[in-house]
Formats: sequence, structure tokens, C-alpha cells
Amino acid sequence: MVTALAESFVPLVAGHVGQLRAAGLLQEDLFIDGHWAPAADGARLEVRDPASGEAIANIASATADDVRRAVVAAERARHGWWRLPATERAEVLMRWYDLIKEDQEQLAVLLTIEEGKPLAEARGEVAYSAAFVRFYAEEARRGYGEVIPGNRSSRRLFALRQPVGVVAAITPWNFPALMIARKVAPALAAGCGVVLKPASEAPLSGLALAELGNRAGLPAGIFNVVHGDPVVVGAVLTGDETVRMLTFTGSTEVGKLLMSQCAGTVKRLALELGGNSPFIVFDDADLGAAVQGAIDSKFRNAGQTCVCANRILVQSGAHDAFVERFANAVSQLKVGHGLDADVAIGPLIEESAVAKVERHLDDATAKGAQVLSGGQRHELGGTFFEPTILVGATSGMELARGETFGPVAPFFRFDTEEEALALANSTSSGLAAYFYTRDLGRAFRVGEGLEFGVVGANTGVISYEGAPFGGMKESGFGREGSHHGLEEFLEVKYLCVDGI
Ligand code: NAP
Repeated sequence: MVTALAESFVPLVAGHVGQLRAAGLLQEDLFIDGHWAPAADGARLEVRDPASGEAIANIASATADDVRRAVVAAERARHGWWRLPATERAEVLMRWYDLIKEDQEQLAVLLTIEEGKPLAEARGEVAYSAAFVRFYAEEARRGYGEVIPGNRSSRRLFALRQPVGVVAAITPWNFPALMIARKVAPALAAGCGVVLKPASEAPLSGLALAELGNRAGLPAGIFNVVHGDPVVVGAVLTGDETVRMLTFTGSTEVGKLLMSQCAGTVKRLALELGGNSPFIVFDDADLGAAVQGAIDSKFRNAGQTCVCANRILVQSGAHDAFVERFANAVSQLKVGHGLDADVAIGPLIEESAVAKVERHLDDATAKGAQVLSGGQRHELGGTFFEPTILVGATSGMELARGETFGPVAPFFRFDTEEEALALANSTSSGLAAYFYTRDLGRAFRVGEGLEFGVVGANTGVISYEGAPFGGMKESGFGREGSHHGLEEFLEVKYLCVDGI
């Protein structure tokens, strides 16, 4: 159902689409070997504004042959790219950064109309994506090797760092620019060729980044974008022996499938998979800061982030006061179209996402949780959902075991630090965790005890391009950001030179 309010944005969105097209920032074809081209069989997929349900673009849907052409182009291009001095690769990447910054407002609008997040968040995502490109432009100069003290006087020993080869990147819809920038920029900085498959729900930001990369002077074939049926595209990217690495961000379920598909050609893998973040508030926390942190962490992108607080654990002494303050803050959050300046929460990406939220709520209330506020589809209709607070959540509920991926804040009560840690760690996921305390000893004990790859103490927002981001357990392996993010794309080669 398209709502009256969402419909009132349709002409505005259409105007933006026209401007983006005229600026060359709304591309709909495949980008292979430096050229835009339709799919070999002419097939197309519709992309919709999730807020209104209106079609905004018709992207090409690649055939298996299209994907193979992209792999061949990346393999051919990577040899020249890798042999460029690192400083020259760095300069091209820095030009790409400049062009993203120049067009950042238009890119943010594009992101909001394809994904639904509020424009302020979209601006933040574009700026953060650009920051990754700049960071890896700088890091391109630092793919250091080693000189190894030898075992014979006739020998010199080295550990060289060399690009892994052609990299396939598969990315999700919830951060349609960021997830691409933080894979493609380090892969290119390392000297690899890339074939990207962005998500079908939100492919347009990735295409705009490719257009700007082309304008920045990336050589033809070094960065290719192919979208379409994920099974068709994924089969080539995971099965082709020329592709030497898969870097994937998405659900744990699809990550496991792709991992098994890559076994046949023993590809290197980096997997950024689903999360189930605990957000722990101890009695001694600064409650005002903790409420703000929980709001930021929970409701960003309408709760559709891999690092969002999925379970809010509050110690008994602070529980009721915290819930009251949190509820006050939630009552101020406006739901609506992301292009509306006051909006804090946009729509969910599609109907199946709403259905999942409802399933988690039904299960939780059937098992004894109470809805304190929200709990329904929003009166705006479509895929809008009310920000929801649940109290009395327990570990036997579905929402404790997996990501709800929606604007639902379930509260769990605990008494001791040991209990909080056990509850927080009782998940197969291990991506992000947060806790609030003013006790320094507890900060170290809990920080070290949480089995998660990314931990925030006294903050709900921790991402930074200079820090390593990634999961433990079934949230995957590999790191993005920092020098670790570059190393994912570099092989270590031992070179022994004798006869000296
Ligand atoms: P998804 O369904 O796993 O899809 C992710 C990507 O995989 C999309 O491009 C999708 O293509 C593709 N895909 C799906 N099935 C495939 C197959 N059989 N073969 C090859 N590719 C396939 O995840 P999503 O719904 O887009 O994103 C949400 C998930 O991503 C959540 O679990 C979230 O926690 C996780 N995530 C993790 C991180 C992190 O850093 N750890 C960051 C963001 C999101 P189509 O779009 O064409 O279906």
C-alpha cells in the first residue's frame, strides 16, 4: 500500500531522479571493462523507493556471460594497475575521494531514495564512504614487506606483500555506499581488480561510485559492477577460478552458502555477517549518556544495521529509570519519508522485513514480554513501523536469538556482572557489543569478556575508518578499516635469493 504522505513525496523524488540522471549519477546498466552496457539478454530489474513503493530505476540484470566478461576484464586490468607505483594508485584513489566529496549531497539524496534512511544519515554514510576512500588512498603507500635475517651468507630473504588477484565483492542493501567503499577502496589500493555485485534492492549508490571512479581515472576493467539474479551472479563469482577472493557482507545464511561455494576453488574469504548486539547498562552508568547511546545504536536506519542494539540489558537498580527515560526519548522520534527534514525513522526496506518484525513481536508477547509503546505497523502504511519498546524480554524468545532488523527495543533485566556477560555472550553471533559503566575495573573486565569483534564502552557509535571492524563466531572473519583492511587483499610471498 502506498500512503498519502509517501505519495506526496513522489513528485519530489521524480525531480531528484531527473537531476541525478542528468548529472550522470543515476546509472542503470552494467559497468564492465570501463563501459556501461545492458545485459546480454536485455533483462532488467526494477528498483523502488521503499517509502512510496514507486519505481525509480530499471537496472540491467546480468547474465552469467556478462559476469564472466567482468572477471576477464578485471584479470586483464589488474596486471597494469598493480605494477603502477603505489603513489600513482594513491593519486587516482585520492581523485575518486575528491569527486565523491564534490557530489556528496546528490549521492546522499540518491541513497535516501533507494534505501529509505533519513537524509541526515545518508549524508553521514556518504561522508564516511569518502573517508574510507581517502584512508586507503593514503594506505596504498604502506603495503610494506619484510627483510628477514637469513640462515646462509649467500642468501637474502624477503616477505613480499602482493595483491591477491581478482576480488569479487558482494554487498547488502542497508549501507549501499559504505559497504562498497570499505571493500573496493582497500582492494584497489592493494593492486587488485574488483568485480562488485551490489544488493538488488539498493544498487544505485554503487553504480554512482563506479561512475565517479571512472571519472577519477580508474583504468578500464579494474572496477566492474554487475547486478542481477544473485544465484546467477554468485555462481560465477564463487566458481570461477580466476577470482581469487570473495569479500562478502550480508546475512550469515548467505555467507555460509557462499563459503561452501568457494571451497571448490579454495578462495580467500572475508565475511562480514549478521550480528545480535547486546547493549548493557550497569547500575553505575551515566543514564543520560546511556539513553542517548541506546537511541543512536537502536534506531539508526530504522534498526536495520548489523551493529544495532538487538538486546538491551539493564541492571535491576537502573532498569525502571532507564526504561522511562528511553521511552521519553523514543516518543520524540518522527517516522516518515527520509527526505522530510525532521524524520528520524524511515521505512523498512520491504514487506518481508515488516513480517519478520511482527513475527518476533508475536513470539515475544506470547512468551510473556509486554509492549510498552509502539508494536504496530505505522499509520503511514507501506513498510513504516512504529518505534517499539518491549519489557520483560527473556533469552528463550526469537528476538534474543537472531537479528530483528527493525525499530524494536527489547529490554532484558539482570542482577550481576557475571549474569550480564553470560547473557550477552549467549549467541552464535559476535559482531558488536556495547556497555555503559563508570567503574574502570568493570570497563576492562567486561570489555575483555565480551565475545564480539567490536566493543563500545560508554558509546553507542564506534565506527571509524582507522579502526578494525569485523566479527567473531558466526558473524564471520576478516577486518575492514585500518591497516588490517588492506592486509585482507595482500598475499605474503616468501622470496629467497641465493648465490650472492
Ligand atoms: P543478504 O540477503 O545476505 O544479501 C547480501 C548480498 O548477498 C546481496 O547482494 C544479495 O543479492 C546477495 N545474495 C543473496 N543470495 C545470494 C546467493 N545465493 N548467491 C550470491 N549472492 C547472494 O543480506 P541483506 O538482507 O542484503 O543484508 C542484511 C544482512 O547483512 C544482515 O544480516 C546484516 O546484519 C548483514 N550486515 C552485516 C554487516 C557487517 O559488517 N557484518 C554490515 C551490514 C549488513 P540480492 O540483493 O540480489 O538478493
